[in-house]
Amino acid sequence: MTPQNSDTRSLMYLHTFGVAVKAKNIIPVFRQKNLTENKHLLEGNFLVLGQGSNVLFVNDFAGNVFVNKLKGKTILAENENEVLLKVASGENWHRLVRFCVQKKWGGIENLALIPGTAGAAPVQNIGAYGTEVADVLEFVEAVDIASGEKIIWQKKDLGLGYRQSNFKTIWKNRYFITAIGIKLYKNAEIQPNYPMVRETMEKMFPQQKHDLTHVFEAVCAIRSAKLPDVKKWGNAGSFFKNPVISLADAHTLQANFPQMPHFSVENGVKIPAAWLIEQCGWKNKATDKVGVYPNQALIIVNKGGATGAEIWDFAQQIIASVQENFGVGLEPEVQIVF
Ligand SMILES: Cc1cc2nc3c(=O)[nH]c(=O)nc-3n(C[C@H](O)[C@H](O)[C@H](O)COP(=O)(O)OP(=O)(O)OC[C@H]3O[C@@H](n4cnc5c(N)ncnc54)[C@H](O)[C@@H]3O)c2cc1C
Repeated sequence: MTPQNSDTRSLMYLHTFGVAVKAKNIIPVFRQKNLTENKHLLEGNFLVLGQGSNVLFVNDFAGNVFVNKLKGKTILAENENEVLLKVASGENWHRLVRFCVQKKWGGIENLALIPGTAGAAPVQNIGAYGTEVADVLEFVEAVDIASGEKIIWQKKDLGLGYRQSNFKTIWKNRYFITAIGIKLYKNAEIQPNYPMVRETMEKMFPQQKHDLTHVFEAVCAIRSAKLPDVKKWGNAGSFFKNPVISLADAHTLQANFPQMPHFSVENGVKIPAAWLIEQCGWKNKATDKVGVYPNQALIIVNKGGATGAEIWDFAQQIIASVQENFGVGLEPEVQIVF
């Protein structure tokens, strides 16, 4: 969102929930040196913000917010099969996906239309339709904000998992990611193994030899139909992660709820959070300001004028209700900023 507010401390147009909150200072970062040139801005709390599409500010933020504006793309290496691309962290993710598809470089086409910046992609290891950024990520460059030290991590050191990385846990609010390196594939085989993408693509482009553009267009069509427009409904996408429970707990739940959808994953059984939320009667539930998005129970929307505390309170009621009915703890996918 573009700032449209004369209050230079307002965060309202800098995050997609659109809550009327302020920061102590808002500092746009156009160059890496903007981070380190004003040491006094590093005193107290600080937060790095990309496009604010995965945060909920519960209150005013009593610290400085660095807004990422770093731009640029460089090819680091290329051969007939692969391209290693370095992307400055403030680049828009969806525009990057479109750029790669136009170049016929495969790997991230399933991640079209995910809002936000390239630099935030590893923070929660963004994913959709069977692909995660971890599938193409090679390295992350960052600056330790307090010391100004530059660091480069290889993918294996980032603690990447399902909507998870060290940036959300042990490294939280410590580093400013300045660039990411991704490996893309030329002449990539089109294998949209996610049924909904395959079916949509076949419907949109019948009897054609499919290419990356078709996957990209199908993903954009699915997402545009299913997800709320942030300009109309403040939201941050899926509010909750799909819980992963132990095999034993899954068996117990299945005995009581035989119709419960479930998927085996490496460390247990994943249950769709949307199903749990709907079963607890939250579909279409809303107050005058906050509600569950009618087309997708995982999304909580600001219908207009909600405070961060009201949205967080609504989310906590959903968590309590799923815990009470299923004994399953829901975890927010969104970064909650107190
Ligand atoms: C409608 C909608 C649909 C969505 N769909 C998906 C989806 O399909 N899959 C998915 O995975 N996500 C999805 N999201 C969530 C969101 O788009 C992603 O998490 C995205 O990567 C956030 O990017 P951002 O730049 O807006 O990050 P922000 O919201 O600004 O920041 C998110 C977190 O990352 C940290 N951060 C951001 N940039 C940096 C940086 N440069 N250095 C260090 N830390 C940083 C912030 O401090 C914060 O903790 C969706 C969101 C919306 C609104």
